[in-house]
Amino acid sequence: MTNYSIIIPSYTVGPEAYKEVPVRCARYGKCAVVIGGQKAMAAAKEKLLEAVEGSSISIADFIVYGMEATFENAAVMEANPVVQEADMIFAVGGGKATDTAKLVALHLNKPYFAFPTLASNCAASSSVAIIYNPDGSFREFVHFLDSAAHVFIDTDIIARAPSEYLWAGIGDTYAKYYEVSISARDEILEHFLAMGVNMSRMCMEPLVNFGEKALADNRAGIASYELEQCALTIIITTGWVSMLVTRRHNMLYNGGIAHALFYALCDLPGFDETHIHGVVVGFGCLLQLVIDGDEEEYVKLREFNRRIGLPVTFSEIGITLDQLESVTDRILADEDVEHYPYPLTKEMIMKAAERLA
Ligand SMILES: [Zn+2]
Repeated sequence: MTNYSIIIPSYTVGPEAYKEVPVRCARYGKCAVVIGGQKAMAAAKEKLLEAVEGSSISIADFIVYGMEATFENAAVMEANPVVQEADMIFAVGGGKATDTAKLVALHLNKPYFAFPTLASNCAASSSVAIIYNPDGSFREFVHFLDSAAHVFIDTDIIARAPSEYLWAGIGDTYAKYYEVSISARDEILEHFLAMGVNMSRMCMEPLVNFGEKALADNRAGIASYELEQCALTIIITTGWVSMLVTRRHNMLYNGGIAHALFYALCDLPGFDETHIHGVVVGFGCLLQLVIDGDEEEYVKLREFNRRIGLPVTFSEIGITLDQLESVTDRILADEDVEHYPYPLTKEMIMKAAERLA
C-alpha cells in the first residue's frame, strides 16, 4: 500500500462572497497581492477593497498577469518585490489568469485564494495549471501539492461576465460525467476514485436542469439561483471530481472520446483557432453516447444541446465525415480513451458519426 493525499478546496458562493475574505484569509497573514486579468480585476477590485476595508488584511497591488498562462509571465511577477513580500496571492479572473497566479504561488511557496470571475472551467478549484508557450500553443500541465486555500465565487460578478464562457463551460463540464462514468463502468473502485466517479453525475445534472435558465440569466446579468448552481457545477464540482478521479495504478479515468475527438480535430489546419474547446467537447459526448448505444441519454443530451445552441452534428462544427475519418487513428491513440470498458475501433466511430453527420 502506498500513501495517498487528496486535496479539496473549500468555497464561499453568493452575491457578497468576498465579505468572507477577512475571516478566511487572516490566519495566512496580513498582506495580499492580487494577480489577475485586466477585465476581471476591473470587475472585482471595488468589491475586494470594500471587503478588506477595516480588517487585518491589506491588498498591496493589483497586477495584470499578461495575456497567456506562461512560465515567462509568471517569472515577471515572481521577480516583483511586491509579490515577493506578500503573504498570500489572490488569483482573480478566468482560467489563464488563475493558472498563472497559481504558478507564482507555487514557485514562491505562498498560499493562494481563487476569485473566479466567470464560470467556464475549474481552474479555481483544481490543483493543476495548464501552461502555454508565449505563442499560445500548449506547453505542459503543472501539478500542485496544494489547491486554493479557499475559493470565493461572487455570483454578481459571474452574472455580468459574457455568457459565451458559461455556454462553452457547460459542454466541457457535463463531459466530465459522461467520460468518467464510462471509463469506470462496472469497476469496484477504492475510496477516492469511487467518490469522484459518483460525484461526477453532479457535473451533468445541474447543468441539464438549470443550464438554459442560467444562460438566459447570465445574458440579463441576473445572479439567479440557477446561475449559481451552474457556476458551482463548473467551478467547484469539476475541480473536486478531477482531484478525486486521478490517475491510479497508471489507469486514467479522467478522459474519454469527447476530449480525444477535440484533440484529434485540432490536427486539422485551423480547427483549434476557430473552435471553442468546451463546445466541441460537449458535442463529442453525443458521439460517445451513440457509440455506446445509450439511446435514452443520447436523446436527452441532444435535446439539451439544441435548447442551448450547442452543436448536435459534425456539420455544425464544420467537419465532414472524410475529415473525421482522417483523424480516427489519432482519436484511438489518445490517452483519454486508453482506459475504456471495451475496445474502440475506427468502424465504431464512423458508424456512429454517420448518424451525427
Ligand atoms: Zn476539457
